[in-house]
Amino acid sequence: MCLIDKASAQTVFSENDPRVTLHTKLANEEHYSYIMENPRENSCFGIKHNSILNTLAYFSVSDNFVFDLVHDILEGVAQYEVKLLFEYLNRNFISNENILQRVYAFNYGFMDKNNRPMRINMFCTGHSIGLNASQTLCLIRNLPLIFGDVVPEGDRHWHLLIILLHIINIVFSPCIREGMTVFLKHLIVDHHRLFKDLYPQNNLIPKHHFMIHYPECIRKIGPLLHVWSMRCKAKHKFFKSSIKNFKNVTKSLAKKHQIAVAYHWESLSTKGIESGPVKTKIPTDVENGDLILEHFQIDLLSETNVTTIMVLNITQVLWFAQILFMKCQCSARLLASF
Ligand SMILES: [Zn+2]
Repeated sequence: MCLIDKASAQTVFSENDPRVTLHTKLANEEHYSYIMENPRENSCFGIKHNSILNTLAYFSVSDNFVFDLVHDILEGVAQYEVKLLFEYLNRNFISNENILQRVYAFNYGFMDKNNRPMRINMFCTGHSIGLNASQTLCLIRNLPLIFGDVVPEGDRHWHLLIILLHIINIVFSPCIREGMTVFLKHLIVDHHRLFKDLYPQNNLIPKHHFMIHYPECIRKIGPLLHVWSMRCKAKHKFFKSSIKNFKNVTKSLAKKHQIAVAYHWESLSTKGIESGPVKTKIPTDVENGDLILEHFQIDLLSETNVTTIMVLNITQVLWFAQILFMKCQCSARLLASF
């Protein structure tokens, strides 16, 4: 992303700082040619070799970058700062045992009951407290409710947490206005500056530095929530837990996955899809209605509603639901793909 060195990263809190040199397309080309001439110095610019994607006419890797909220925030910055906050609370207000008691006994509600932190390890090596990404998000969002009563008003360590929560609220939003990215930039500057004030002996980790590039990244590619690795991790979890033999790993995984998908579709209840009163439409009143009728083999003169169709079969239901969501304006092209 940029060419900043480790020492400067401790004092640079904004992309606008003159010490930040961004990877541009031109600079990247210079770096590529330098590495081609001096292959041993491939650690100078954070580049090991040219990317094949750069051969595309309208694409450059230096202009298309992305950050992962799971690794940067949930498994990095958030756990690090919660750990430091717990140490601060333990030194000044309540014991470690009380901290854990409060965290475990808190009612996280129906939606978050599966993500509640089950086991916190305050003495983990490194910056982690031994939680996974979902548990960290659940814990940090509820921290103000869990410990709000023990911290005095105006506490700066508490203020650091509140700023981080503001940042989390923005970067985890599925929809962000451009003005909000400017606000985010200032929040990140305030947050990093306060962190260094409160913990001068602790370093900002590289993931803290990545955060200063978030506003520009969001302006270029949109909210980072849409590209986080949570979905990939969730999908990957099945493969990690299901492998038991190692003779032909890819075949075993493919087979087990197909079996799991078949079971999922077979056991999916149509009742779960049905929903309250629905609009009744005469298919002939709908654009391209004749094609829908032909596909679902529905009587021309009958009134048809979603719940009647739903008992047909699951594949048809999904297609039909999609058609309804599109307000029955589906094109012949879509139907032709059936
Ligand atoms: Zn950077």
